[in-house]
Amino acid sequence: KAAGRNHFMFFHADMSRLAVSHYAMTADLRHAIARDEFFLNFQPIVGVQSGQIESMEVLLRWQHPVLGLVSPVEFIPLAESSGLIVAIGEWVLRTACTQLQEWRSLGYRLPHLAINLSAIQIHHSSILQTVTRILAETGLTASALELEITEGSLMNNTDEVVATLSALSQLGVQISIDDFGTGYSSLSYLKRLPIDTLKIDRSFVMDIGDAQDGTAIVAAIIAMARSLNLKVIAEGVESAQQLAFLQAQECDQFQGYLYSKPLSAAEMRQRLLRA
Ligand code: C2E
Ligand code: MG
Ligand code: MG
Ligand code: MG
Repeated sequence: KAAGRNHFMFFHADMSRLAVSHYAMTADLRHAIARDEFFLNFQPIVGVQSGQIESMEVLLRWQHPVLGLVSPVEFIPLAESSGLIVAIGEWVLRTACTQLQEWRSLGYRLPHLAINLSAIQIHHSSILQTVTRILAETGLTASALELEITEGSLMNNTDEVVATLSALSQLGVQISIDDFGTGYSSLSYLKRLPIDTLKIDRSFVMDIGDAQDGTAIVAAIIAMARSLNLKVIAEGVESAQQLAFLQAQECDQFQGYLYSKPLSAAEMRQRLLRA
């Protein structure tokens, strides 16, 4: 297999840089936990009516020793295809829960953490034990966790996925559908799966005010979420105009640069101190 890869890289010069860097990056990913190269950012999720931080999304960052900061958009797919996402995802869960406990012990009132889960983690049989163990280790209750799963990753929502998400939900963890509206999937899963929250993808939120269709889509998703008794969050809110629209439509929560970019743990602590 390795020889085949080398041949491919040798004979296809244009493709080779990409192939080499992905190959090398995957090799480096293998050591990233042990070498302490990962850290977390936290982005506030704010109540549209309250204006208060009600939750925060945990976003993984990789400080590569040579390449510098690598975007999760780049390395998460490699972590998924190599299977490393299972260990990395567990590191994210444990580190995030530990951080939340630390903030709480300092007296900050923080209800929730929203953590991204890859489809691979859901297919992996041990996710339920992993979540249960980390909650026990860190002394958090399941209600402190919201797990985000992209709509696209639910495309083949097998009985296995339904069973795993149901078990997580019964544990008391909240389940959110991330990037809602981009998955091209039939909406029937909304009835089959134990979902608490829809996160409207940034691409729709961006269109608020500019494109009439975009505005209509956001309004329709909020209305649908309300009638299904789901919480709805708008991602990527950058303008006051977008927020005003979300207020008028009674969207529940928002996150985006308008309120805050993702922050380091130290920056978040400063922010909480002032809140
Ligand atoms: P996501 O879960 O949809 O996260 C939201 C992304 O939008 C984040 O990008 C965030 O920094 C960005 N964002 C937030 N507000 C704004 C805004 O107002 N404007 C713009 N332009 N962008 C905004 P980020 O941190 O680069 O993460 C990208 C994706 O990588 C995430 O999308 C998620 O799918 C994935 N990801 C990040 N951390 C993890 C992780 O721990 N596990 C897994 N499986 N995936 C992760
Ligand atoms: Mg997310
Ligand atoms: Mg998203
Ligand atoms: Mg996204």
